[in-house]
Amino acid sequence: MKSLWNDTEAQAFSNDPLELRVYTSRLLGANPDLVLHGGGNTSVKLNQQNFFGDPEELLLVKGSGWDLATIESPGFAPVRLDTLKRLAELETLSDTEMVRQQRAAMTDPGAPNPSVEAILHALIPFRYVDHTHADAVLAVTNHPDGEISVQEIYGNRVIVIPYVMPGFVLAKKVRELTQGKNWADYEGMILMNHGIFTFDDDARESYEKMIRLVTEAEDYVRQKGAREASKTKVREDLIRLAGIRKKVSDTAGKAMLAVPDQTEDAGGFSSRKDISEIAVRGPLTPDHVLRTKNIPVMLDENPVEAIETFKNQYLDYFKRNTDGQLTCLDPAPRWAVWKEHGTLAFGRSVKETTIISDIIGHTRKTIQQVEDWSSWKALPEKDLFEVEYWELEQAKLGKPGKSPNFQGKIALVSGAASGIGRACAETLHQQGAAVLGLDLNPEVEKIFNKPGLMGFCCDVTDDESIRQAVNLVVRNFGGLDVLVSNAGNFPAGLTLEKMTAETWDSSMRLNLSSHQRLLTAATPFLQQSLDGAVVFIASRNVPAPGPGASAYSVAKAGLTQLARVASLELGSYGVRVNVLHPDCVYDTGLWSDDVLQGRAEKYGMSVEAYKSRNILKKEVTSREVAEMVAAVAGPVFLKTTGAQIPIDGGNDRVI
Ligand SMILES: [Zn+2]
Repeated sequence: MKSLWNDTEAQAFSNDPLELRVYTSRLLGANPDLVLHGGGNTSVKLNQQNFFGDPEELLLVKGSGWDLATIESPGFAPVRLDTLKRLAELETLSDTEMVRQQRAAMTDPGAPNPSVEAILHALIPFRYVDHTHADAVLAVTNHPDGEISVQEIYGNRVIVIPYVMPGFVLAKKVRELTQGKNWADYEGMILMNHGIFTFDDDARESYEKMIRLVTEAEDYVRQKGAREASKTKVREDLIRLAGIRKKVSDTAGKAMLAVPDQTEDAGGFSSRKDISEIAVRGPLTPDHVLRTKNIPVMLDENPVEAIETFKNQYLDYFKRNTDGQLTCLDPAPRWAVWKEHGTLAFGRSVKETTIISDIIGHTRKTIQQVEDWSSWKALPEKDLFEVEYWELEQAKLGKPGKSPNFQGKIALVSGAASGIGRACAETLHQQGAAVLGLDLNPEVEKIFNKPGLMGFCCDVTDDESIRQAVNLVVRNFGGLDVLVSNAGNFPAGLTLEKMTAETWDSSMRLNLSSHQRLLTAATPFLQQSLDGAVVFIASRNVPAPGPGASAYSVAKAGLTQLARVASLELGSYGVRVNVLHPDCVYDTGLWSDDVLQGRAEKYGMSVEAYKSRNILKKEVTSREVAEMVAAVAGPVFLKTTGAQIPIDGGNDRVI
């Protein structure tokens, strides 16, 4: 493992111990083999003047909610050192009381809650303290002869602490085992099955000790015979993936994404002969169970049954370990190993599945390294249960937070580069959905280019392009719940007398047939959706046609009939199909100045008069149509299908 220390970068902070703390914390955070997503913690002890000018000894320790990779100075909570040391002397201390007392001892009430390891940091008599969950240290401690390995690597240069629950209990254990010891005799401290601490009065040295000690563990693992993990191409089965996601969501009682890892590393892991056995022996470090639960579900020929079995076993595990006071978490798995298909991460958002995928990647790698020379052995289940169900996490369960309507849901929107389609993609994403926006305009891939809101250049009149788009949304997020079929154009306004075959046919191709093609391709996934909804964007022209727009109106009328038939066919799968008839939406690509002018002339009006020719005298915006789409696809319209809903400012010919 390489030190990332850079003299030039560090120079800027040399006079500010807290800024140096920020700098080396970020160096630790930059290496995922040391810490992942909010894991690990660091601190610095400072003598600072308080509000009245009196000096105070403080521990500035990583605050909860901050990530070492991106932490800034406000991410360190300033706690009076003396209070922390006195807390360590108590016989018992509940986590809730610990948090209360630590908050009460902070000199800045606006700072975040101090890390759960704050008391332990306070006990270590050095200015800088660094703590990580380094993969290599976990590899040497998570096997039957872990203590022997630690001894072989480090001899007497480190303090070794057997596994106990993190937080107050760990701080007490360290205090007890280091009585009479001189901390200066040691380079670091190994926590069995948990991680490693290093410490020094010099920021750089504390960091470098971490790198050196972890490198020694890496070298040891390699010498013992750990090899590069084998790589295998994964098999893909998107239909079954959608079924797995549905079953996991039903088991969790809420919509979840199911994001596959189809890398060759994941393929290699999932194709191992011993996979069913080694994957379910427990996590890398107990910290991870809050995200991943203690074990993954193993999926093979009958994934739905396997998830049901996982659920029952989880409920048994809860019953075996609860003291009767705890609230059971939802019994759905958070990750899966799918034989020969790679691994899956389940979560409520792309942010969550990304974190879980990263944890899986490191767990996978480390388990295989250990299996090459020993046997992966994580903590017993009661220790993992204690972390999964620790007081502070349980307290959070008591606070009912309402999640957005589309949290964990997956949407596909066509015609998404501008106007109504773009507004729909953005609105659904803001309301929690993972969204793929399609458009013929390749710009769509730049417009939507972040996790959970992506764009794909797609010609919805081309079957192959549609197939790719539907596969992509399922491969990215695990299924499909909401289809907003919106792509369309307004062909040249021609009377029937002047109609050309090309104008007519191209309008039918885009404004009618492409919607059928997209719906047909999406149907196998919609049949496995969670409260599935299809929304077709038709037009006021359907109930109230105008002269000179037959190619458009007839296609939209056909689209409306398509929706009515689809609502009959998909109803038994719980999928609703509804149609919106917008009008007076002038902020879309459809309404070029020329088109507006032309339409106004047809009605013998000025453009201004034409624009407010509805009953409410109001122009309708794309955003307002998108809000209506979200409502129709959401819980308010859960019992409505086959409906046609105008959003046109009120039209006397429609009413
Ligand atoms: Zn830790």
